[in-house]
Amino acid sequence: MRSKKLMALALASVMVFSMAACGSKEEPATTEAPAAEAPAETPEETPAAEPEEAAKEDADAAAAEAPAGGNIGVCIYKFDDAFMTTYRNALQEILEGKGYTVTFMDGKNDQAEQNNQINNFIAQKVDALIINPVMTSAADQIIATVKDAGIPTVLINREPTADQMSAYDKLVYVGCDARQSGTMQGELILDTPNKGDINGDGKVSYIMIQGDPENVDAQYRTEFSVKALTDAGMEVEELDLQRGDWDRNKGQEIAQTDLAKFGDEIEVVFCNNDDMAIGALQAIQAAGRTVNEDIYLVGVDALDAALNEVENGNMTGTVLNDAKGQAEGAVQAMEDLLGGKTYAAGEQSIYVDYVKVTPDNVADFK
Ligand code: BGC
Repeated sequence: MRSKKLMALALASVMVFSMAACGSKEEPATTEAPAAEAPAETPEETPAAEPEEAAKEDADAAAAEAPAGGNIGVCIYKFDDAFMTTYRNALQEILEGKGYTVTFMDGKNDQAEQNNQINNFIAQKVDALIINPVMTSAADQIIATVKDAGIPTVLINREPTADQMSAYDKLVYVGCDARQSGTMQGELILDTPNKGDINGDGKVSYIMIQGDPENVDAQYRTEFSVKALTDAGMEVEELDLQRGDWDRNKGQEIAQTDLAKFGDEIEVVFCNNDDMAIGALQAIQAAGRTVNEDIYLVGVDALDAALNEVENGNMTGTVLNDAKGQAEGAVQAMEDLLGGKTYAAGEQSIYVDYVKVTPDNVADFK
């Protein structure tokens, strides 16, 4: 309640500030700023209802920090992605909670479709864009388009290179350093009693179920999970590596085929994300194998379903891919851009940390 009131007060000041701040912009986009979207408690009521001096100062500070309100366009690479659904919901809650008018578009995993959506948002003169690119390889074109339109833009989840981003100083990437998640997956295996070498033959034999390999998250998780093992002096054997495109059904199919082909030789199933790990778990159970006894299984994301399986001992562990933290970071970066902040080349990636999740700490994430 109290924070909602603070938000209302902050929003009232923010809107005044945003009008002033954007006065020099070519189009008066913020004249359409969402007065109607303000929280139910009206700003006029708020000061009288807020007795504490300190709280008023907090509100003033918040208003000074949050420079803009307005219409925000969000492009998601596809709605039908378990992790991006959690992320999208977090973004919606934060943006709407701050009084922004936000429109989400489903790119349906089709870059041409997403390009149209970006162009439509530009034609509608949105104040800022948050874009989860369909293809990282389209980053140059996306960046050129938003730069040409002069729209402050936050890229999320699929990281372009620093060089690509340097083309536009009102552009920032908010995400995670995928190398860290790969390393943590390897560490989860190293933390098992036999360091992944269940059959004691001196090597860790694994299958790798990869996300979309066009995506740097898939590339780095694949590389760094295994690197953590070899860096620790373990010998490894890759029995199979296949793309599962972040998809549960594909994860299930790949694991099923590999379990039939390699049987007990498989000691570790690395999945680049949890959704594929949940699919792999179905295949593991159907093959009569038992996770943490005769096979290990790790994912990334800390989806609710995966947290349950870690808790029940059906997954060795996962790695928190902090959707809420990234959504908060993306909105903060967007507000900084709206407030006039620009980013120097080489300083356009803002990272949120990954966190290892095991049976010992899983309760903290539920
Ligand atoms: C997540 C995956 C998701 C992908 C989408 C990754 O960071 O771990 O679950 O499918 O992003 O780009």
